[in-house]
Amino acid sequence: MNWDQLRKNIRGRIVTAEDPAFETVKASMVWNEIKPDRSPDVIATVKDDDDVLTAVNFARENGLKIAVHGGGHTWCGLAVRNGGMTIDLSKLNESQIDKANRNAIIQPVISNQELAHRLSQYDLAFPIGHCPTVKASGYLLNGGMSWNLSEWGAACFSVFAIELVTAEGKKVKASATEHPDLFWAARGCGPGMFAVATRFHLKCYPLPKAITTSTYYYSLDDLKEVVEQVTELGWAMPSMVELSIFLIKAPPELANQCKKNKGKLCMISAVAFAYTKDEAEKALAILEQGSIVTKCLAKKLNEPSNFEKLSEVSGITWPEHHRNLCENQCSKAKPVDILLALRDKIIDAPSPKSVIVFCQSTGQHNLIETRPEVAFSMEGQSYGGAWAIWEKPEDDAANIKWQDETIAIIKTFTNMHYIGETDIVQDPARVQGSYTPEKWKRLESIRAKYDPEGLFFGYLGGIEK
Ligand SMILES: Cc1cc2nc3c(=O)[nH]c(=O)nc-3n(C[C@H](O)[C@H](O)[C@H](O)COP(=O)(O)OP(=O)(O)OC[C@H]3O[C@@H](n4cnc5c(N)ncnc54)[C@H](O)[C@@H]3O)c2cc1C
Repeated sequence: MNWDQLRKNIRGRIVTAEDPAFETVKASMVWNEIKPDRSPDVIATVKDDDDVLTAVNFARENGLKIAVHGGGHTWCGLAVRNGGMTIDLSKLNESQIDKANRNAIIQPVISNQELAHRLSQYDLAFPIGHCPTVKASGYLLNGGMSWNLSEWGAACFSVFAIELVTAEGKKVKASATEHPDLFWAARGCGPGMFAVATRFHLKCYPLPKAITTSTYYYSLDDLKEVVEQVTELGWAMPSMVELSIFLIKAPPELANQCKKNKGKLCMISAVAFAYTKDEAEKALAILEQGSIVTKCLAKKLNEPSNFEKLSEVSGITWPEHHRNLCENQCSKAKPVDILLALRDKIIDAPSPKSVIVFCQSTGQHNLIETRPEVAFSMEGQSYGGAWAIWEKPEDDAANIKWQDETIAIIKTFTNMHYIGETDIVQDPARVQGSYTPEKWKRLESIRAKYDPEGLFFGYLGGIEK
């Protein structure tokens, strides 16, 4: 392979398998400390859109399949494939913000926290994802299970155009009027994307200036009553409240009270994305109505927050530099049935860092509602899953077993999956289970139109081209 020709034509960095830095660069492509046993032939870290074009053309002309690396946050390290070229977009992190028209054009690899920070300078906000370091790139293509989901919807609903480089080496803009089929696919296709997205055009919202949180801690002995009442109260809350039920390790000050349940408890987190303090406090006060509230072990009410703080807190629950497994679902089943079935699993989790979380409906409508104009397909009154999180390789077997058993329980309630939060997208049934049959069929026909030769790797596993 004439790598020198590629090096000459690209402004960014080319690292091939023979390069001493290769293993380190490859490992940095995967956020999870569980690294895949796969290896590309070359990693092209691009500097601009022209570099992307050059890389795509080089790959096509030299018979190399393409994988794309945004922020590297897929649990199964999809940017690292066997052979071919990984196009690494990690240097593309600029943004232009238009306050007057409430929109922004961003390059792909801006983190949730950075995007929130930049927008807040203009009193704007966007439905970012929950953790600080996750990048817009893959998140938006997946659909985007965002903060304030019930009010703003999946993040991809607020993307009004995407600039891409296609397999045939064309720079195109996809929107409702230009390449509408590509635009439809790119909002939900996730790691099966068959073009390189270089810019996202975002519709932004006025910044909620009174983001406020209330947190309640309950014993797992009271789980049934808590979940029944909290989910019921959720329907009465405005949709700008994000309501989540965590099965999680107790904070140190409550550990003693939770000894019987091996230091685990149920935490209810309610975040109001309000514009005034009164509006926030009124919305959150609804959680004070249930009879269960008298049983809570501790509570923190009406704490002022903002997007950056929220993502910092999530970053503690889903920490960097750990070994991770993850699976999710949305469901029409009753949250109480799902969570009661999982109660013993969280108590017996081999790692105290593992967590089970389900977000609930507020605002008198289902938490997740899809739209015909996007490939993203999920619908359901709750969304959540299990995350096994641990540190040492010697604990792999115990944690993998726990995750497998927990997922087997969750599966019995599953309606549909999210393509963006899983470590098992090598299973064709799992990939297709993230879409309705109609949307899957359409997605595959659009892929065949834009990438007829299968230049892009696509989904991992049995349906990989
Ligand atoms: C700690 C943590 C928290 C998370 N929280 C949330 C959350 O709150 N909500 C949510 O929806 N998701 C969440 N996710 C999942 C997240 O959306 C996905 O992991 C997503 O893939 C991250 O994007 P990335 O660019 O970092 O991924 P990468 O691993 O870089 O990309 C994954 C795949 O997407 C495709 N891809 C990425 N960028 C491009 C591009 N520009 N052009 C073409 N193809 C591309 C490629 O196929 C690539 O292999 C979380 C993940 C983690 C690890």
